Amino acid sequence: MSPQVGDGFETRAVHAGQPADPQTGAVIPPISLATTFAQSRAGEHSGYEYARTGNPTRRALEECIASLEGGAHGLAFASGMAAEDTVLRALLGPGDHVVLPNDAYGGTYRLISQVLGPTGVEWTAADLSDPDALAGAVTDRTKVVWVETPTNPLLSCVDLAAVAEVAHAGSAKVVVDNTFATPYLQQPLALGADVIVHSSTKYLGGHSDAVGGLVVLDDDELGERLAYLQNAVGAVPSPFDCYLVLRGIKTLPVRMDRHCDNARAVVARLSEHPGVASVRYPGLPTHPGHDVARRQMRDFGGMVSFLAAGGEAAALALVSRTRLFTLAESLGAVESLIEHPARMTHASVEGSPLAVDPALVRISVGIESAEDLVADLTQALDAVA
Ligand SMILES: *Cc1c(COP(=O)(O)O)cnc(C)c1O
Repeated sequence: MSPQVGDGFETRAVHAGQPADPQTGAVIPPISLATTFAQSRAGEHSGYEYARTGNPTRRALEECIASLEGGAHGLAFASGMAAEDTVLRALLGPGDHVVLPNDAYGGTYRLISQVLGPTGVEWTAADLSDPDALAGAVTDRTKVVWVETPTNPLLSCVDLAAVAEVAHAGSAKVVVDNTFATPYLQQPLALGADVIVHSSTKYLGGHSDAVGGLVVLDDDELGERLAYLQNAVGAVPSPFDCYLVLRGIKTLPVRMDRHCDNARAVVARLSEHPGVASVRYPGLPTHPGHDVARRQMRDFGGMVSFLAAGGEAAALALVSRTRLFTLAESLGAVESLIEHPARMTHASVEGSPLAVDPALVRISVGIESAEDLVADLTQALDAVA
């Protein structure tokens, strides 16, 4: 039972799925560690029987994310990849076809090409921001169009309503990886998507301290199938990790506002520095996806990529010269991170159609002081130039 809460996104981020504990009044639901639950008679229980199948802390997180994405069903997994695997397993079999972005998250590309590919699933990587490329990639065997927007690491933006129209003209479902935007900035179900996946390891958790994945959808039948697989395969998150993500989500709106503001400040500096050849950021009017991003996002997010003017050598020197920006994979947390996609996050796609420019640098702009972040990038760029 949820208490009567207001409809505002920020209100739901704090309260959805988390009424005060009915027994003690505790305002934060307890972390429920029990693996098994007492039954009154054989087969009769109060909603929980075994913790892989369901657990109160996980349930709170699942209700919270469903509310924030505006979907009927939420499911939590041990990682973003476990969430993706479960969704793809439910929707694809041998002979089926999936279209994915040509700059998809490297792990998604690896899962589809290396794990599902050998089981007979076929795939095409396409630039989904180009309507002709999308139309050319979809066949009558396409069951899934997998979308990221903004994409990783190039931050291309894909018109979700346009993709949904093409996919639904055939028999394909649209799955959106909403990790970069979060439900605060972008609501894919309202734009026609069928399923949303998240790596809650990133902005939703927000503090670089819990690996997790989430799925949200409206379809009851597919929701049941996913819950069946969640239990049958068992890639579920621990109650403690669920608690950490619930805690992170409470501040998602205020963190995202700061991430977006700081990214704007950093982009302004990068755009005028001679050590930077070009900046990729959806908030720039010159960005190819700017209009789409303006239409379907509340703001432009905290991710920025750029090409070092001095090529790969300059990019590599730069990422080890920042002091506040930590050289590390991952993104979306309070602290700023910098990385070299070709050698780090996207090393697994080297030599594939998804390979990235070795001069590319990706930053996840944190919530520290904007002046400090700008100063740090400036000193690193000056040293390399
Ligand atoms: C990190 C990430 C994933 C994978 O999530 P994990 O929690 O690391 O398993 C999927 N998609 C995107 C866009 C990501 O950034």
